[in-house]
Amino acid sequence: MDSPFELYIDGRFEAGAGTFDSIDPATGTPWATMPEARREQVERAVEAADRALRDPAWATLTASQRGKLLYRLADLLEQAAPELAAIETRDTGKIIRETRGQIAYIAEYYRYYAGIADKIEGSFVPVDKPDMQVWISREPIGVVAAIVPWNSQLFLSAVKLGPALAAGCTVVLKASEEAPGPLLAFARLLHQAGFPPGVVNVITGFGPECGAVLSSHPKVAQVAFTGGPATARHIVANTTGNLARVSLELGGKSPFIVFDDADLDSAVNAQLAAIFAASGQSCVAGSRLLVQAGIKDAFLARLLEKVAAIRIGAPDDAATEFGPLCTERQRQNIEAVLAASVAQGARVLCGGTRSDRAGIYFPPTIVDCSASPQADSITTELFGPVLSVDVFDDEAQAISKANSTAFGLAAGIFTRNLTRAHRLSRAIRSGVVWINTYRAISPLAPFGGFGLSGHGREGGAAAALEYTTTKTVWLRTSDVPMDDPFVMR
Ligand code: NAD
Repeated sequence: MDSPFELYIDGRFEAGAGTFDSIDPATGTPWATMPEARREQVERAVEAADRALRDPAWATLTASQRGKLLYRLADLLEQAAPELAAIETRDTGKIIRETRGQIAYIAEYYRYYAGIADKIEGSFVPVDKPDMQVWISREPIGVVAAIVPWNSQLFLSAVKLGPALAAGCTVVLKASEEAPGPLLAFARLLHQAGFPPGVVNVITGFGPECGAVLSSHPKVAQVAFTGGPATARHIVANTTGNLARVSLELGGKSPFIVFDDADLDSAVNAQLAAIFAASGQSCVAGSRLLVQAGIKDAFLARLLEKVAAIRIGAPDDAATEFGPLCTERQRQNIEAVLAASVAQGARVLCGGTRSDRAGIYFPPTIVDCSASPQADSITTELFGPVLSVDVFDDEAQAISKANSTAFGLAAGIFTRNLTRAHRLSRAIRSGVVWINTYRAISPLAPFGGFGLSGHGREGGAAAALEYTTTKTVWLRTSDVPMDDPFVMR
């Protein structure tokens, strides 16, 4: 199979040391050959990023000039959105109506960080010594290893590349082996935008080799990781040698809480978006419906009616609302957890079994766990289209059930009572709380988790500071010669 996909290392495109097939989830068959970076190429990419850090072509650019490169990248991304969307849809199975809109919006993230580049300021310290002037500058932390999963990868790269490049870092970006096409294609835009060689390198390969060599490399100063908690533990272990700073954006089991005074139509639509958009393959999936007992039947009846009308189809058809999963492994995991949950007393209300349709499809599924609130499907992140339902009687129970997992990424609250909404937003342990909405994002708004959902924040102005470290400079202003050398000043 001829492949248009190459690795991007030190400003040049090259074949991988190995190759592997990428699967089209709509058919379940290979559609493209991808280049696999092995140890030597990963190391070369890090060396290139390390050299670029000191190369005047990058190191002497002013912050505004770095911003201009990011603005140019944003424009190129906007122009290339239809082409990249088609690749992402083919490689991941994510529906075209979502990939098109999402990629165009990602350009706004690069513009936001382009504007931040020359606003990363230092400070002056009024120290308690009259003959000293002390100031603090913000320095780029160094080489950043950005490691992302297959879902929303252009977005998850933008929230790392944007602030890291604004801060003056250099980057080795590792695309997921499950669907690396969109990021390898994106590398062409980085090249076109004019980033000096080595400033951004884009590679892909398998986690245990490519990802491990990258995150443990002695010249990597920071690892910005998005993925699952199990891989995050490997990342932390990989960094015991280089002692790199690590940020983790991990999974979730986010509660979607509906009180009996909520606007039910709005809540039903938001719940559909929360769990069935992207076929549930979203870190913020609202996969635990907590509904107040008195409205459970009415809410589920409306939800089931809407679910029955979801248009399942080919992801490249603009009319399709629900496409396949990305990998067969995920589908089998979902089936295993569902089978265990049913054995534990959960009741399947819709979906639950794959159809004989070709491709890696799994239908929108709702399971009632109100009689078995410890069922696996209500405690495990499934990363798929499975909504687990539980009930609560009052506000205190809603909070206690919402906080009953070790995750803490997102939460949705539906109520017309705004004082209650405020109380819940304080009581729920999660990095994002959406009130009477769900799945809303903006480059201006920080995003990240509590607990097993990780730490570090992406988005917002402060994210650029996460790619810097401070330098404290002391200047003695006195002309009087230094006195006693054997005491601390
Ligand atoms: P994953 O953890 O399996 O893989 C993520 C990346 O880590 C891939 O590039 C992979 O190659 C790499 N990797 C794997 N083993 C490695 C190792 N030993 N050393 C270094 N790198 C290694 O994740 P996935 O299955 O592709 O994605 C799904 C997960 O990502 C879910 O848990 C989801 O919730 C999470 N996610 C989180 C966010 C967020 O912002 N919080 C966003 C999207 C996805």
